[in-house]
Amino acid sequence: MDEVLNILFCPDCIICKSKGSIICEKCLCSFKEINERFCLICNKFDNEGRIHQKCLTKIPYKIYLELFSAYYYVDNVRKCIKLSKYKARIFAPLKKLTKKALKYSLNFNLNYSGYIVLPVPIHSQKLKERGYNQAEIIARQVSTFYKLKYEDNLLHREIYTKSQYKNTRKERYRNLKGAFTINKRYCNKIKGNKFLLVDDLCTSGATFLESANVLYKAGALDVRCFSLAKKF
Ligand SMILES: [Zn+2]
Ligand SMILES: [Zn+2]
Repeated sequence: MDEVLNILFCPDCIICKSKGSIICEKCLCSFKEINERFCLICNKFDNEGRIHQKCLTKIPYKIYLELFSAYYYVDNVRKCIKLSKYKARIFAPLKKLTKKALKYSLNFNLNYSGYIVLPVPIHSQKLKERGYNQAEIIARQVSTFYKLKYEDNLLHREIYTKSQYKNTRKERYRNLKGAFTINKRYCNKIKGNKFLLVDDLCTSGATFLESANVLYKAGALDVRCFSLAKKF
């Protein structure tokens, strides 16, 4: 609790503990930016962050997907995301991280015109535990920055998945199968529309792929993905 109060009333840098800001300038500058875009499946370069044709054969979906990730999930970026997820109900550091990521994203001429921003949903049980969905915090900022419509009730997470960090790519896909559904009341909002899925971290891409697949099945025209960080 002390730590929560400290962050609320007298912010120390959550990384280096210097006084005055929730993340100081020095630590903000230490975030390692990803300076190119790549395929979600093989993690190799692609100019527009698309899945390579040949990589589509390795996954259970035949869908078009384009990814932008701002930071490598290492060092202080990892610390910042982990803290916002597991330590306490604190999302100010996440907001700062996102603000910087959005500025950085301008270097890539991403064209999101007409896209609707959707945070990747978390399971209701996780929402209770954590108090908020960290993807929502980021997605709201993305929608404001790029002046896009925002929706957070179209997708629903049915299955509670435990942390998948120890699982292989195949296991991750299997565990996530059927994890997302479309909220029936809003089916008409999907058809013919383009979506920008937002999450904090992209690891194997299974979460993005599974949720994008559900959107495509419901008639989405195009789905793109935006993650703060990427784990390679
Ligand atoms: Zn610092
Ligand atoms: Zn590839």
